Amino acid sequence: MGPAGRLDPFYEASMKPAPFQYHAPKTVAEAVVLLAEVAPADGRVLAGGQSLVPTMAFRLARPTHLVDINGIAELGRIAVADGKLVIGACVRHAAFYRPVADGPLGLLLARVVRHIAHHPIRTRGTFCGSLVNADPASEWCLVAATLGAEMVAQSRHGRRVIAAADFFEGVMSTALQEDELLVEARLPLLPPDTHYGFYEFSRRAGDFAIAMALATYRLEDGRMVEPRLGIGGAEPKPRRIVAVERMLEGQEPSPEAFASAAQAAAKAVEAMDDSNYSADYRRDLVETVTRRALDQAVQAECRTGEP
Ligand SMILES: Cc1cc2nc3c(=O)[nH]c(=O)nc-3n(C[C@H](O)[C@H](O)[C@H](O)COP(=O)(O)OP(=O)(O)OC[C@H]3O[C@@H](n4cnc5c(N)ncnc54)[C@H](O)[C@@H]3O)c2cc1C
Repeated sequence: MGPAGRLDPFYEASMKPAPFQYHAPKTVAEAVVLLAEVAPADGRVLAGGQSLVPTMAFRLARPTHLVDINGIAELGRIAVADGKLVIGACVRHAAFYRPVADGPLGLLLARVVRHIAHHPIRTRGTFCGSLVNADPASEWCLVAATLGAEMVAQSRHGRRVIAAADFFEGVMSTALQEDELLVEARLPLLPPDTHYGFYEFSRRAGDFAIAMALATYRLEDGRMVEPRLGIGGAEPKPRRIVAVERMLEGQEPSPEAFASAAQAAAKAVEAMDDSNYSADYRRDLVETVTRRALDQAVQAECRTGEP
């Protein structure tokens, strides 16, 4: 700051981002009080910085305050409690390289994380930051929507739990209020006999998905039960395709059943249309990624072996 609290013109011209004030709370309670104060003036939470900082560097985002949550020890927690995997706000993508929970959930997350960006980004970017950022092509958003995650939001006024189905509202838009901190996300553990498959199509390794599918089911007497199918990347927000889940329920896993399900998924999506990819192209990809995710789920290794 220069005289009389004015910004130093040298600072203004020499920094990539627009000027901001930096805050480093040590507790969640401190963070939410700060957030309540600065959010109306476009104060933002800083987690891994892997989405926010590049937009600040281009001055597309100009937050006047940053509330850096990286010094809050309790937010680094990752634990299993009451049948759920609890993922604190500062848990990085890279934490999932090895299974973080016994059974299929840990293996599934270890498979999915390899598709998120590149290693350096995965060492800083956070699971919860991805959820709040709500990019339609975010792998963690698809996982949260498909498996029915719960998001725990905290503000000065207390805590509330938001179901994934209510959390994602559209392209980079969620139900989180500006003064709320997403303190943790909770994913239900998957039963040990769950089959799962994840398939993503992107132009190059590490690019954002153009379309991706996540499928899970269990088998009873050789027939699929409790099937879940989620699609991401193709629509403004990831979601379960319930009509296709109903088609799969009670059927034997077979190429024919999967082909029909994939066609139905492609018909069900309201695919985005933009200058890069047409809606028709995205719909075609939805058919392909759905079939491949279902095919992958058949393989025994998905249940017991390497992710
Ligand atoms: C080159 C590149 C490629 C990428 N590829 C992919 C990819 O393939 N798939 C993918 O999913 N992502 C990708 N990303 C994004 C990356 O995964 C980010 O880490 C993630 O989107 C945001 O997490 P973050 O912790 O870095 O959040 P930040 O950048 O710190 O924050 C992002 C936004 O969320 C808010 N926020 C963050 N955490 C909280 C919280 N706990 N409570 C309230 N608000 C919060 C911030 O205020 C900000 O508005 C890529 C990024 C880059 C730079």
